[in-house]
Amino acid sequence: MPELPEVETTRRGIAPWLDGSEIRHVKVHDARLRWPVPTQISALRNLPVKAVARRAKYLLIHTEQGTLLIHLGMSGSLRVCDASTPRRKHDHVEFFLSNDNILRLHDPRRFGCVLWDTDDGAEHPLLSQLGPEPLGEDFHADYLKQALKGRKAAVKNLIMNNHIVVGVGNIYAAEALYRAGIRPGRAGARVSLSECVVLVSAIKEVLGTAIRQGGTTLRDFVNSDGQPGYFAQSLNVYGRSGEPCHHCDGIIKSKTIGQRASCYCPQCQR
Ligand SMILES: [Zn+2]
Repeated sequence: MPELPEVETTRRGIAPWLDGSEIRHVKVHDARLRWPVPTQISALRNLPVKAVARRAKYLLIHTEQGTLLIHLGMSGSLRVCDASTPRRKHDHVEFFLSNDNILRLHDPRRFGCVLWDTDDGAEHPLLSQLGPEPLGEDFHADYLKQALKGRKAAVKNLIMNNHIVVGVGNIYAAEALYRAGIRPGRAGARVSLSECVVLVSAIKEVLGTAIRQGGTTLRDFVNSDGQPGYFAQSLNVYGRSGEPCHHCDGIIKSKTIGQRASCYCPQCQR
């Protein structure tokens, strides 16, 4: 599943092709995505693109008339092609650009979506309830401490909760908790303010590193240049159950938290 770093990598990949361009028209080949592609999208014409932004894992293409919301779901990817490139199977939606390129949404499993908001998307029901961006200034230790206050749920589940902070997927949560020395199953309320300081900076570090490396997780993720966006990131705990810790003589353990395997080092994480 494309995680926040892949979505941000996609945003950075497609933005230069869209900025200053116009979406001439949109061709929907298969509207049966997670939510049906609204028919009004096929009717859109000549939309000058103002900016390509991201909120959580949604790409927002801001135009003069409104905003396209695109989510990559489980298996989606976006790619900019020149007009002579044949459409591939599973290229469900095509955005024809004034620079003669085509932005194509490829999504074999069709869990992605393409939606339209007549405003800037901020008040769209999918976006309006989301917590802060993990890399933004609103996500800081005091905020996180407040958000974890009184919460008995595992800290790993809480940092993966989109109402608390968006875009911290399973891998990044596990790796950030390892860096912060906090066990994934510890109750949120039992994470101190000084630990929140370390945890917030660990979350920013792991996501920032992944964005710099161009995304890490999905084998069939394809970035806008058509290159695989699968970069081996050095993982300390994720997927390493039973292997030796990189920083002590302990062995990485796995525990099921919120129906997901959560790996941690019992010596480095308390
Ligand atoms: Zn260790």
